[in-house]
Amino acid sequence: MTRKETVGDVAKESIPLNTGAVIRTPGNTKKYHTGSWRTFRPVIDQKTCIKCGTCWRVCPDAAIYIDKDGKYRINYDYCKGCLICFRECPVKAISKELEQK
Ligand code: SF4
Ligand code: SF4
Repeated sequence: MTRKETVGDVAKESIPLNTGAVIRTPGNTKKYHTGSWRTFRPVIDQKTCIKCGTCWRVCPDAAIYIDKDGKYRINYDYCKGCLICFRECPVKAISKELEQK
């Protein structure tokens, strides 16, 4: 944009964009078990866990849940093994194991 051009002038010259990706069936990612990609499996030691919730907050796949007894558990169908939970657990209650397929 030169000094004499306005934002409006630039916008008129813009190339129209086609519609991008559209999610037609919200919630369909439930069908995709990202756990099948995993190389490492995080494992929570319930005796060491202080139930701080950090792993639950940082998991990018929402693969950690709290069971009816208040214990933090990992849903291995959706845990892709990124190990963010392993790195962030403040008391090292999460270990990593090589996935056995
Ligand atoms: S981050 Fe560690 S201590 Fe905190 S809830 Fe998860 S496993 Fe337990
Ligand atoms: S390894 Fe990654 S995807 Fe699996 S539970 Fe931990 S943070 Fe979530």
